[in-house]
This record gives sequence, C-alpha cells and structure tokens, in this order.
Amino acid sequence: MTVPTQNPTEKKSGRAIEVRELHKYFGELEVLKGIDFHVDHGQVVCVIGPSGSGKSTLLRCVNRLEDPTSGTIVVEGVDICDPEADLDDVRSRIGMVFQSFNLFPHMNVMRNLCIAQQRVRGRGKDEAIEVARTNLAKVGLAGKEDAYPAHLSGGQQQRVAIARALSMDPDMMLFDEPTSALDPELVGDVLAVMKDLASEGMTMMVVTHEMGFAREVGDKLVFMDDGVIVEEGDPVEVLADPQHERTRSFLSKVL
Ligand code: ADP
Ligand code: MG
Repeated sequence: MTVPTQNPTEKKSGRAIEVRELHKYFGELEVLKGIDFHVDHGQVVCVIGPSGSGKSTLLRCVNRLEDPTSGTIVVEGVDICDPEADLDDVRSRIGMVFQSFNLFPHMNVMRNLCIAQQRVRGRGKDEAIEVARTNLAKVGLAGKEDAYPAHLSGGQQQRVAIARALSMDPDMMLFDEPTSALDPELVGDVLAVMKDLASEGMTMMVVTHEMGFAREVGDKLVFMDDGVIVEEGDPVEVLADPQHERTRSFLSKVL
C-alpha cells in the first residue's frame, strides 16, 4: 500500500480501475480472497455470481465504503488504499447506485438532486438546478422535480437515484443490483437508462442478474464465487460457453 498517490502512467494506460491482490476480511471471515481485475475507460464490466460471493463487498471497496484488508485499488491513477488519499474526493468522482435507491424521503426530487452538488461540489443553487434538470430529462423524468420519492414507482426512484449520481459529474458509475428490487415491468426503463449511459462512454461496473443486459451492453463479464473471480471474459462467450464447472452450474440456475 505504498504506491504513490498519483501515478500518471496508470492514467495514460486507459485504466479507470485497477484492483490487485485484494483481500477483505470481516472478522475471521475472508470474503474477498485475492481479487485481480481492471476496468478500462469507457468499459462496462458486469459482475455476476451467487448471493454471498462478495460482489457488493468488491464494489464497496472500490469507493472505500469498505476498507480493504490488503491489496491495491487504483482509481483514475489514485491509489485509494494509500492513507494519504483524499477519500471524499475519490467518492465524489464515483457515482454509486444501490438496489434500494437510497433517496432522501423527506426531500423532493429536485432537492435530492441538488443537495450534494451544492454541499460537495460547491455549486450555486441556479447551476445545481440546471444540472439536475438536464439529468432528470436524461433519465426520462422531466417534470417530476416536485415529487417526493414515496409518490414515485420503484423504477422512477431508481432513475432519480441515477440522475442524482450523474449530477455530480462522476468519472465512473458503480451499480449494485440496480434492478433487483423492482417489479419486472419496471426493470426495462432502468436498464434502458443504463444502456444510454454506456453508449455515451461512461465507465461502469454493474453487479446484476440481468444476463440480457450483460450480454448486450457489457464489454466484460466477471463471474465471482466464494470470494474469487472464477472466470472472466467477453460476455457473449462466457454466457454461451463457460469454461469452469462453477460458472456452468451458476448459469444453469439463472438463465
Ligand atoms: P454478494 O453481494 O455477492 O451477495 P456480499 O459482498 O454482500 O456478497 O457478502 C459477502 C459475504 O460477506 C457474505 O458472507 C456476507 O454475509 C459477508 N458480509 C458482508 N458485509 C458484511 C459485514 N459488514 N460484516 C460481516 N460480514 C459481512
Ligand atoms: Mg450484494
């Protein structure tokens, strides 16, 4: 963990995220058992695997919502495991979308989209509102500025959460099962927004059970089981012809 904070070579190489030998323990339980992988700029990497395999923990390590036990995570050239790293800055450049939306229930949509822009980005009210409107339109929710989360469908709430993350102008977006809490008829709208983002070149890491999305939008598919990456590769190839028995067994249950 003694790599310098800024590493210009890594930035030029096109790597948005580089993870090396990542281990994470919760007490005695080793949840990540030596993870190595990378995400290039503009890539969409989908992560699949059984419940409890460590997918959320991996994502949460990438923006330091969890402290890695050992290993290296370099995000946009910054070693985020370095004790000197500015974690607020790192987090403000990584948009995160959770299964459970996590909107502020007592704030309307516009307030939800403006608060971090004003408090973290230091934007004035007018600029924050303008950015928020642009992003609300982008997720198909222009006109919902005054609505409160409880009055929106789950799919609309998730799209607000995506617009809120985008309003911070993140370098990359991490999605943790963004459609798993949604009624089936609402999943498509959220996936469509994510697909648009991908086509605009956003760097994305997506934990998902939506194999259609992984196949169509993903540049890389990572299969995790029991704290390790068992297999990774082109989504079309991995889904059609998995090389490992564990991958085959998992896919036979979800496809
Ligand atoms: P996944 O997202 O693939 O379902 P998680 O990363 O959420 O897996 O969890 C991996 C393992 O780590 C599970 O055994 C889970 O119970 C455990 N775990 C996750 N978070 C914590 C925590 N904060 N404290 C203790 N154990 C945890
Ligand atoms: Mg999870």
